[in-house]
Amino acid sequence: MSETGPLGLFGGTFDPVHVGHLRLAIEAREALGLDEICLIPAGNPPLRSAPHCAAEQRLAMVERAIADLPGFSVDRAEVAAADQPSYTIDTLARQRRQHGPRRPLVLLLGADAFSRLEAWHRWRELFDLAHIAVATRPGHELTIPAETQGAGAGQGQGAALDAEFRSRRGTAADLAKAPAGRIVPFAITALEVSATAIRERLARGGNVRHLVPDAVLDYIDSHQLYRTPHGH
Ligand code: ATP
Repeated sequence: MSETGPLGLFGGTFDPVHVGHLRLAIEAREALGLDEICLIPAGNPPLRSAPHCAAEQRLAMVERAIADLPGFSVDRAEVAAADQPSYTIDTLARQRRQHGPRRPLVLLLGADAFSRLEAWHRWRELFDLAHIAVATRPGHELTIPAETQGAGAGQGQGAALDAEFRSRRGTAADLAKAPAGRIVPFAITALEVSATAIRERLARGGNVRHLVPDAVLDYIDSHQLYRTPHGH
């Protein structure tokens, strides 16, 4: 495997990792021509309520989920530093130091996560360090107010992100041509799965087989995870 082809970086809370996450990563690899995919469980995600499971448990589930997927790896650094907030800008800077200035890095995001990018710490600097590929699916399309509302739009919430999107928009073929800076939408299979719904189902005593890989289900069962509502 080339050490220099585009590397996909996919962060998330993964509480727990599920088939929606894994299909996103697998389809990104195929659609975008990525050499490898690195999953990055967040240690202490700053923009959401505290995860149900400990960082080490979420990491263990991701490790089991990708064990039989060639070309996939896990970055443990955010989990190791879970006493501090996990900022993507810091993770990308570390990945950039690790892989050198020339290797294309591609941050993978769902359309919902991309639409909230302006809330992220130092978000504009993300484009100096990586490309961003945005996974779209029915019900989770990219909505660009400045394009859909015509002249006069683009002054309010989301305007700065719209401007970045319009100037940086590219295709999969652009990713290998530069180390960073493009925004590339790509379509994935629609799987209406969320970690929230999986946690709720488990708390009700329900069965989540085939919503998560069997190896993740084994871990959940053997550690009795998510059997009570959060905070109990
Ligand atoms: P929660 O329900 O706890 O908020 P989640 O299932 O949305 O969790 P996260 O770990 O918060 O999972 O998401 C990580 C990334 O995965 C985000 O970029 C999100 O857009 C994407 N994602 C989550 N669920 C799906 C899905 N079913 N299909 C495609 N992408 C998804």
